[in-house]
Amino acid sequence: MNLNDSQQKAVSHKNGPCLVLAGPGSGKTAVLTRRVCALIESGVPAREILVITFTKAAALEMKERFERLSDDIHPVTFGTFHSLFWGILQKEIGFKSTDIILGNTRTKIIREAMAKVNLDHDDSLLVKSFSSELSVINNRVGGMDNYLPKAVDKKELRDFVLAYENLKAKYHVIDFDDMLKKAYELFVKKPEILKKWQNRFSYFLVDEMQDMNDLQFQLIKMLSARTNNIFCVGDDDQSIYGFRGANPKLMEDFRNHYPDSNVVVLDYNYRNPINIVEKAGNLISKNTMRFPKKIMATADEGNLCIKELKSEGDEAEYIISKINELSADGTSFDEISILYRNHSDARYIVDKLLESKIPFYLKEKMPNIYSHFIISDMEAYFQIAIGNETRARLLSILNRPNRFLHRRSVEYRGNLQGMKFFYKDNPGCLRATEALITDVNLISKMSPCAAINYIKNVMGYDSFLREEAVKQNADVSEYYDVLDFFIEMTKDCKTIKQAIDKLNIMRLKVDYENKTKVIDKKNKIGLYTLHSSKGLEFENVFIIGVNDGIIPSNKADSKEEMEAERRLFYVGITRTKRNLYLTYTNKKNRDKSRFLDELNYSSSNASP
Ligand code: ATP
Ligand code: MG
Repeated sequence: MNLNDSQQKAVSHKNGPCLVLAGPGSGKTAVLTRRVCALIESGVPAREILVITFTKAAALEMKERFERLSDDIHPVTFGTFHSLFWGILQKEIGFKSTDIILGNTRTKIIREAMAKVNLDHDDSLLVKSFSSELSVINNRVGGMDNYLPKAVDKKELRDFVLAYENLKAKYHVIDFDDMLKKAYELFVKKPEILKKWQNRFSYFLVDEMQDMNDLQFQLIKMLSARTNNIFCVGDDDQSIYGFRGANPKLMEDFRNHYPDSNVVVLDYNYRNPINIVEKAGNLISKNTMRFPKKIMATADEGNLCIKELKSEGDEAEYIISKINELSADGTSFDEISILYRNHSDARYIVDKLLESKIPFYLKEKMPNIYSHFIISDMEAYFQIAIGNETRARLLSILNRPNRFLHRRSVEYRGNLQGMKFFYKDNPGCLRATEALITDVNLISKMSPCAAINYIKNVMGYDSFLREEAVKQNADVSEYYDVLDFFIEMTKDCKTIKQAIDKLNIMRLKVDYENKTKVIDKKNKIGLYTLHSSKGLEFENVFIIGVNDGIIPSNKADSKEEMEAERRLFYVGITRTKRNLYLTYTNKKNRDKSRFLDELNYSSSNASP
């Protein structure tokens, strides 16, 4: 690869601060890895070089890129902010990996802290609000000082934080968000420890700087203060972690922090086809909060295909057919990726890929749609209908929909007909049981699809879903989507028995895939959320669910959030080296994404 002049300038930058600001595909990561090699060649000991990114996957990817460039093995440190500072805390304070609290354990302590300061710890929404406020505070320099919480009262938050901190100290645990805060406190309180770590590294390189938050910047600034050899690359247009406190303005501020810094701009795009560069430029120019950039394409035209489909099932089938075409033309699977807004949007495509035996990998676990409560409910009805009833199955659907039957009033005798009620004299109970028996007999003779519709619309499962959505503060249309998914999955099954068998097979397949999950991406299609696709590139990129409400998310209701959604879509479309397929559905009158029109919006056509 022949570096262009600006790239060369960045690679050969030796000492002092340097910022590389450039768009997607301009070689920022390429420059960064080459600079590591250049430093080693110039005599810098590899163990003094620290390369930092934001996710484990990105750190690994970077390490691989570097290893491909260099024949020898060099002990350069490739890490994430969390791995680096957690390592420091373990060494300096003696934390163990079992001291990190995550997920439910953390929520339990949050609830306990809320109870201590008389907050309603049974209100899941309130628990969520306090939990996310904690993350924000822990990722701020200065913690709660000058902070105005969004969703909760400031005094309550202060009391809560104190109680939460006390509990963590009592149990001697730490949560993921406080790792960086604790490291910062450690460096401030114990300058001798900071000094020791400042001596450990002499060159600092950061990829994807736009995702850095203030605390991370302070930490890296402190750590590199001995040499000031800090080299950051980034693109403000790809800042997609604002919700975690990322502050792309840090890139603008870099020069204020380091007045003598070298700033390099790269303006050739080596990845995207020329028509994609142009369309991506149209899209992103709709954002107001950005540094305008000049990006020149170096590649030829690629293929942009936008397709409307009737349902997610059709969308998945369309993608499978395109994948088969590509594969027949000699494209290997690892040159294909499928991107989506949310992990749960992947379920149709995962289902179809498994069915078609096309190899693929997911960074996360498979979406566990098969254990969704709605699917379990349908399965319970189906099992009961074909005579496989158990007490547990019966109880699980007893009040779905609500039949006002108390579980303790049921005496179960091995089959539905034999089900007895203690309160036999209660005519309401009796009627409800008889109706259930009649309904179950009826659905036993239906096709799975008809049975699902019957349970939903005639038996009243629909009203149960609507009540449940209110209780869980969920969107009922997401529940309907799960039912639709189940209908789609069982549409080729003639009988209820076949549907149950298929469900079991799919569950086994997903289990198997999750258990045998290997990082090996060779000759497999990559499935990524738009967020996790950042930094990657593929010959062929599919983005599914390009609908208003999905991309952009219906949760984006401010101008800032809409701009963040646009950046996320921008990240997605700029992953392609050749073909880009964008698909959306017109199901339930959903609109296609407003971003599709913006691809053709040119600022030179716009009225002043
Ligand atoms: P992103 O913002 O998406 O992370 P990036 O700026 O980090 O993109 P890279 O991934 O480093 O871009 O590079 C994009 C592609 O362009 C890579 O395949 C890289 O090998 C190639 N490339 C970079 N510079 C050159 C060059 N001078 N000549 C040819 N190819 C290049
Ligand atoms: Mg990159």
